[in-house]
Amino acid sequence: MAFRETTAPVRVRRALLLCVLATAIVGFLSVAPGLWTLQWSVGPHFLASHLVLEFFAVVVCVLIVVVAWHSLDRMPRHGTQKALIFGFSAIAGLDLIHTLSNEGMPPFITASSTAKSIFFWQVGRLVELGVVVLVARCPRMPAPRGVWLGLGLGLVACFGYLGIFHLDKLPTNFVPGRGVTPFKVAVEYLLSVSNLLAALWLLRVHLNSRHEQALTLAMACWLMGLGEFVLASYSAPSNFNILLGHGFKVLAYGLIYRATLMHNLHEPFELLEESERHLQARKNELKTLMSNLPIAIARIDKRLRFVYANDFHLQLIGKSREQLIGRHVDEILAPSIRPGARLHLRLAFQGELQNFDYKTEDAQDELQYRHAQLVPEFDAQGKVASVLSIVMDTTEREQAKHKLMDSLREVSELKAALDAHAIVAVTDARGIITQVNDSFCKISKYERHELIGRTHSIINSGHHPKSFFQELWRTIATGQVWHGEICNRAKDGSLYWVYTTIVPFIGPSERPTQFVAIRADITTRKNAEQEAQRMAFHDALTGLPNRRLMGDRLRHSMQSAQRGRHHGALLLLDLDNFKEVNDTLGHAFGDELLRQVAIRLRSTVREADTVARLGGDEFVVILDDLGTTSDIATTRCSQLSEKVREALANPYELAGQDVSAPPSIGIVMFGSPGGEPDELLKQADMALYKAKADGRNCARFFDPALQAEITLRAALLRDLRYAIDQEELKLHYQPVVDAQCHILGVEALLRWPSSVRGMVSPAVFIPLAEQSGLVLPLGHWVLRTACRQISEWQRDPVRSAWTVAVNVSARQLHESDFVDEVLNALAAFEAPPCCLRLELTESMLQDDLEATVDKMHLLREKGVRFSLDDFGTGYSSLSYLKRLPLDQLKIDKSFVSDVLSDPSDEAIARTILSLAHNLQLDVVAEGVETEAQFELLVRLGCPAFQGFLFCRPMPAEALPLKETPILVPSD
Ligand code: C2E
Ligand code: CA
Ligand code: CA
Repeated sequence: MAFRETTAPVRVRRALLLCVLATAIVGFLSVAPGLWTLQWSVGPHFLASHLVLEFFAVVVCVLIVVVAWHSLDRMPRHGTQKALIFGFSAIAGLDLIHTLSNEGMPPFITASSTAKSIFFWQVGRLVELGVVVLVARCPRMPAPRGVWLGLGLGLVACFGYLGIFHLDKLPTNFVPGRGVTPFKVAVEYLLSVSNLLAALWLLRVHLNSRHEQALTLAMACWLMGLGEFVLASYSAPSNFNILLGHGFKVLAYGLIYRATLMHNLHEPFELLEESERHLQARKNELKTLMSNLPIAIARIDKRLRFVYANDFHLQLIGKSREQLIGRHVDEILAPSIRPGARLHLRLAFQGELQNFDYKTEDAQDELQYRHAQLVPEFDAQGKVASVLSIVMDTTEREQAKHKLMDSLREVSELKAALDAHAIVAVTDARGIITQVNDSFCKISKYERHELIGRTHSIINSGHHPKSFFQELWRTIATGQVWHGEICNRAKDGSLYWVYTTIVPFIGPSERPTQFVAIRADITTRKNAEQEAQRMAFHDALTGLPNRRLMGDRLRHSMQSAQRGRHHGALLLLDLDNFKEVNDTLGHAFGDELLRQVAIRLRSTVREADTVARLGGDEFVVILDDLGTTSDIATTRCSQLSEKVREALANPYELAGQDVSAPPSIGIVMFGSPGGEPDELLKQADMALYKAKADGRNCARFFDPALQAEITLRAALLRDLRYAIDQEELKLHYQPVVDAQCHILGVEALLRWPSSVRGMVSPAVFIPLAEQSGLVLPLGHWVLRTACRQISEWQRDPVRSAWTVAVNVSARQLHESDFVDEVLNALAAFEAPPCCLRLELTESMLQDDLEATVDKMHLLREKGVRFSLDDFGTGYSSLSYLKRLPLDQLKIDKSFVSDVLSDPSDEAIARTILSLAHNLQLDVVAEGVETEAQFELLVRLGCPAFQGFLFCRPMPAEALPLKETPILVPSD
């Protein structure tokens, strides 16, 4: 057993005080030895006093035994209690015999005597000392308590037998009249010392273990020791020291009793109290815990009523304790969760632990998530008495879960979308590929394992300069996103374009730890763009650079020539026969011719030289770096242009026949500072014009004199435009007469009496007007003016029969609405068509003969007549003379002027006259200036004449009225 600890210093102090007091008393009595033997003043009452004290001691002993006996009910294995039962039952018996055997008491079996009484006293003290030591040593004493009681009583019987029947055989301890024997004194001292030593030993035990019982026992021993000391010697039983000794003994017993009682009665109570206090504290803790737990706890009884709820539960359901306790679950639970909860409650009341989740809405109608656990609580009979409802608010957890699910879904959707639509690669900070998606593999045509662990250089196309990737890395290394279009090369060598976005992922070190490259395939768009660009800068038919790109290249060549101090040349080519090919073989072959020209040009010049098509049959060749001196460059250029000319002059095979389309080439050199590409091109155009003028199929260099001429022409054209706007132009008329000099009609001839240039000849401005297209509005005006004149003359009896001849230019004739224009002009002035004669030249019949014939027929049907002007200077092809619906031939004035002096001219005139006769055509001889010419022509049979001999061209109002004209110079 273990002594109970004590923390009560008060008791210790009290015990010490008692011991000190008792010791002091004994000390005092020792110093005054006379007192020892002092006769107790109540001498006659000594026996009674002794009897009372001893009985008291016996009762205390019995009480100790009883208390120890019953304490064993609680702790049957308690050895200490058995030691107490054994010892104190023996002590009680021995002390009782001691009391009953005292001198003066009736005989107890044998006669009573002091010696007999002392024997039992001494044996009792011995047993007592032994018991105290035994108790302090916590013996195990396995036998049941009855055995130990029996042993104690047996001990009494043994000593009783000895002391009652055989006292004489034991050492003498008292001699009546003499007092105690030395043996008795020695035994008493021995007992005294033993008790005092035992007290000290027990004190030590107490000090070591803090056991209160040990201290009480120590005190008891000390008092017993003192008592033995006091009782060591006396002469008569009535001596004072005997009573004092007995007093100490009673005190000691009292202490032992107290120790026993405390141990067996107080202590359990204290323990109980303490455990209750403990329990209360735990209860309080539990209560606080329950209140503060973030878990809602409630107890529901069998009738499904709430009997308990912690604060959190109340808070969770938003009710006060009064509103909840005693209420049925149906009153409290929301209708939506009621059926489910009832089912779980039923199962919980059947003893099954229930776990379930449910949703509810809070006061703000926000969705709340709960997890509930229903724990059955059993009563002593093992039946479910109540159910503990433990509800946890899992809203945050659920919301987080949903959020996570949402983000997971979003991420997976994003990933799916990325995988489906984007080409994705992930690299580490060094650019080593760590992940690629299927699209990446598909477009790059590499297997995944071929890409992982490599850098993007594996798909580098070489399209971009190094600086492009340096810039890219600079951007992403600083954590910025990079966008751009990249041309990559697939495993099979094919190129593809991707729009790339590279997103750096910043790590904890604030530096990119990985890069995610997301690409979109833009190959189709890029190809279309490149195609569009090619189309924008290239000619669709030949694939050669177009005018725009040629302009850029020319500018570039001019600049680099200036910088490099070398010379280059611009060649402008025009195919001489192209229009013919187009008209005769059709546009498809015309296109084919152009394609072949392009091929020949390209193969003739160097790779670095530019060949471009400006449109139609116009081509440009830019020759770079021909030499540093002008002479060398010009020589080389001549050679090259000759090569080009030869190459193009060779016949082409088109539609199974050889077609020739030799070029005319205008060349201009460049290299000296200044000059603009446009200017250069104009100069080349002038040279080309010269080449054409010089008979075509040749090359001509640009000559500044040519430029002066062209400049002049440009000024003239400008003035002509102005003149047309200002209506400066006039129409003069030159009469056509018969052999009798009667006027048959007139030829309308344009006159430009310029305010700045004076009279300008139509021979000068008409070709210019033709080239510039001005001839169209001009011709329109002439036609209408002539028709008005016809109309006016209709009222004049002399002139109403006159025909008015109008010169038509090739451009005019080839206009699609030419017929309408003529008829409209006639109709506008109600001029009779038979008075209108249109003069065409042979050269304008070369192009598109069919259409011309058709137009002529249409007009002929309306009565309009046609003359072939300047006859004899052109092809004079008889085949189309036959086909054309002509009325008249006009012998060119060049034949007329020399008809007298040149026999061949006379022959020509004669031939023309007979031809006309045969074809039943009228003939007019132009430019008749002399009588001799007139006479000869009349003789040759020419029916009509025109010339200064008869009349110069003049305004209508100035025309002679008489039938026989007189020579009147007019301009
Ligand atoms: P053309 O049709 O051959 O016109 C006749 C030209 O011969 C006129 O020159 C006329 O003045 C000139 N002439 C007439 N008699 C004589 C003569 O005895 N001796 C000499 N040396 N010349 C004579 P013009 O008026 O200078 O016209 C020149 C050319 O300009 C015309 O040649 C014609 O081709 C063209 N032209 C004139 N007016 C028009 C017009 O309204 N429309 C068109 N398309 N061309 C016109
Ligand atoms: Ca004419
Ligand atoms: Ca003429």
